Amino acid sequence: MKLLFAAAEIFPYAKTGGLADVAQALPTTLAKEIDVLSVMPLYDFIDREKFALTAMNESFQITLGKDIYEISLFEGMNQGVRTLFVYEATLCHCITPYGNKNGDYLSNDIRFGIFSKTVVILAQMFEIDVLHLNDWHTALSALWAKEILPELHVIFTIHNLAFQGHFPRESMERLGLREHYFTPEGIEFWGGVNCMKAGIAYSDVVTTVSPTYAKEIMLPEFGCGLEGFIQVHSPKLHGILNGIDTVLFDPLIDPALPKNYGLEKFTNKKKNKILFCEEHGLRDVQKPLIVFIGRFTEQKGLDVIIEALPKLLTMKFNFAILGEGDEAMAETLKIASKNHDNFSIQFGYDESLSHRMYAAADLLLMPSRFEPCGLNQLISLRYGTIPIVNDVGGLHDSVRDIDDTDRSVCGQGIVLSKLSSNAIVRSVKRALQLFTSTKLFLKISKANMHCDVSFEESAKSYLKLYRKLV
Ligand code: ADP
Repeated sequence: MKLLFAAAEIFPYAKTGGLADVAQALPTTLAKEIDVLSVMPLYDFIDREKFALTAMNESFQITLGKDIYEISLFEGMNQGVRTLFVYEATLCHCITPYGNKNGDYLSNDIRFGIFSKTVVILAQMFEIDVLHLNDWHTALSALWAKEILPELHVIFTIHNLAFQGHFPRESMERLGLREHYFTPEGIEFWGGVNCMKAGIAYSDVVTTVSPTYAKEIMLPEFGCGLEGFIQVHSPKLHGILNGIDTVLFDPLIDPALPKNYGLEKFTNKKKNKILFCEEHGLRDVQKPLIVFIGRFTEQKGLDVIIEALPKLLTMKFNFAILGEGDEAMAETLKIASKNHDNFSIQFGYDESLSHRMYAAADLLLMPSRFEPCGLNQLISLRYGTIPIVNDVGGLHDSVRDIDDTDRSVCGQGIVLSKLSSNAIVRSVKRALQLFTSTKLFLKISKANMHCDVSFEESAKSYLKLYRKLV
């Protein structure tokens, strides 16, 4: 079986979040069983030399509406997976994949239209059996595959329903889409075009990244306006929990860590904490260290953390945040960190620093309002860092409360029953209390490191779905 795995970002070439991690880890695991080819855009910011990307002889044209686009191909290898890179100027001339500080690029309809159509041409060129699409950036491939290659089997994974690829009605013409798709059963949404709907409607199988999120997206609270549409397509919907690459995220060999550790050399974890605290001006390293890593958005519950901040910062722990996003949130955090020596904030995206923070921390705070899967909590389990999470989506499927003896899921942590600033304060208090029970805290941290957070089991579920299709 030959699989083509298409995504707008794949680690280490480009990463803005969990999609890139999954688009690296899942094909790497699948490649042990089947023939896998990945494909992504060759954005200008990708370092071709560093990743030894080479030009292929193939180049061709594609048409969208009245316009013709020149496509050239490159290729590279990473951890045994061959990746094709699509180069076209409109698609690739950018400093980040989706937008800049002024918002999303206005040409994203065309950019990802070019990518999506090219993906179908590549499926034809490389005689692919199953095309695995990811998120709205590749969703139009499902529609074009039905037109150009009807025998191709298509699976579409929703990584985050909050990003759907909405565009004005004029995009129909710009993309050269036939009018008959512009219906509520097709890709029309509130008078505009919705790319995500194409992935859901025209794929043979739809998956999302945790069993709980698969149920949640059929509810108005989590469905982002598509709950009814997803209910209609629910017979082909499956929830498969993500994993992480346990080699890239392994505290025993992680090159980003000042001190490597595992279950045996666990005392080294504390050395990482001491170094991190010293480096970031956090006093009294004996206090617990709690970290938050991620996008500054309401999805991640950062607005509620900010609401709780005045109380949190009077409590006896050090708090460190790494991330970027909403400017107003960033500004509030910046001011708070200036006034408190138990609070440090690092702005930006820093892969290596994030690894050091997972290793240094005693606890990870992740009170997401909604969370399709979430990788931070899986990484924290792997690094022996106890997660404090809200009880939604993939967080529900991967972390159970330390007092909950009824459910058996992979990891243990502190689980909020509902999101509010008071609930965050209460949960942090519980976490600090747990920290005082040194032996129990250590036992849970170490037990969490035993959890299987790899992609092995999930890859088996995907393989089953692929095999059913062909
Ligand atoms: P998202 O919704 O942002 O995709 P996930 O939990 O699925 O969230 O995945 C987030 C991934 O991005 C994790 O690997 C996390 O460590 C990483 N990450 C998030 N923000 C940053 C940052 N500012 N710097 C480094 N890594 C980050």
